[in-house]
Amino acid sequence: MATEVVRRNRPGTKKVDFYNWPDQDFNDMETTLAVQQYIQQLIRKDYKDVEAILDPPPVQDEASWKYEHLRQFCNELNSLTVCLLEECDPLVCKQMTATEQWIFLCAAHRQPKECSALDYTLHTLHGAASLLNSNKHFPSRVSIKENSAQKLSSVARRIYRIFSHAYCHHRTLFNDFEEKTYLCKRFTRYVIKYDLMTTDNLIVPLSVLDLEGEKEGEKKEEEGETTEGQGESKAEEEEEGEKSQEQPAESSQ
Ligand SMILES: [Zn+2]
Ligand SMILES: [Zn+2]
Repeated sequence: MATEVVRRNRPGTKKVDFYNWPDQDFNDMETTLAVQQYIQQLIRKDYKDVEAILDPPPVQDEASWKYEHLRQFCNELNSLTVCLLEECDPLVCKQMTATEQWIFLCAAHRQPKECSALDYTLHTLHGAASLLNSNKHFPSRVSIKENSAQKLSSVARRIYRIFSHAYCHHRTLFNDFEEKTYLCKRFTRYVIKYDLMTTDNLIVPLSVLDLEGEKEGEKKEEEGETTEGQGESKAEEEEEGEKSQEQPAESSQ
C-alpha cells in the first residue's frame, strides 16, 4: 500500500528534515499554487541551475510564469534585506545609490523621494508585494491581464536596485549571499530572458555572474506585446512620473 506523501514542514520538524519529501511532477500538482510550488521545488533541487529554474513547463502561460518568478524574487530578496539590516546604515547610505551616476528615488510615496538605501529597500519590497498581491491588478495568479503584466518590468527594475546597491556598497555581503543563493544571477538571467530590463540598466557585471554572452531581446516574439502596450501609457501614471524623474537631475525613480 502506498503511503501518502505529505509535502509540508510540520511544527517541530528538524532543520535537516525540512522539505525532505520527493519531488513531484508539475502535472501532478493540482493546487492553484502549482507554479509557485514547482519553482520552489526547482530551487531546492539545485539553486545553481538557473536555466532549469527559469525554464517553464510545457503549456505554461508565460505571463503567469513571469509573475510567479517575480513573487519568488521578492520573497528571497527579503533574506538579502535581513543581511542588509545588519550592515546598511541609513546614516552612511543616506540615498539609494549604486554607481555614482544615479540617485534612485523611492516610488513608494505620493511624491517620489530620496529615502535611505535601507528604507528604499524596505519600502520598495513592500510596494512590490502590495502590487503583486493586489486584487485590482492581479485578481488571478493563473491568468494575468495584459496591462498588469506590463507592471512586472517596473517592479523588476526597482527591486534590482537592491542587488546593485549591495554589490556596489556591501560587496562582501553581496558575495556571501550570492554564493549561497545565486539569486542575483537568476534574477539577471530572468530579466534578460523576458526582456524586462535593458542590459544598460544591469549594474552587476554579467561576467561576475558568469552570464557573459547573454544578450537582451532573446525573445523576439515579445516585441509585439511591447508595441501594443504603448497606447496604454497614459494609464501608467507612475511610469510617466518616472520618466520625468530620469531627466538630467541625475535622479531616477
Ligand atoms: Zn548600504
Ligand atoms: Zn521610501
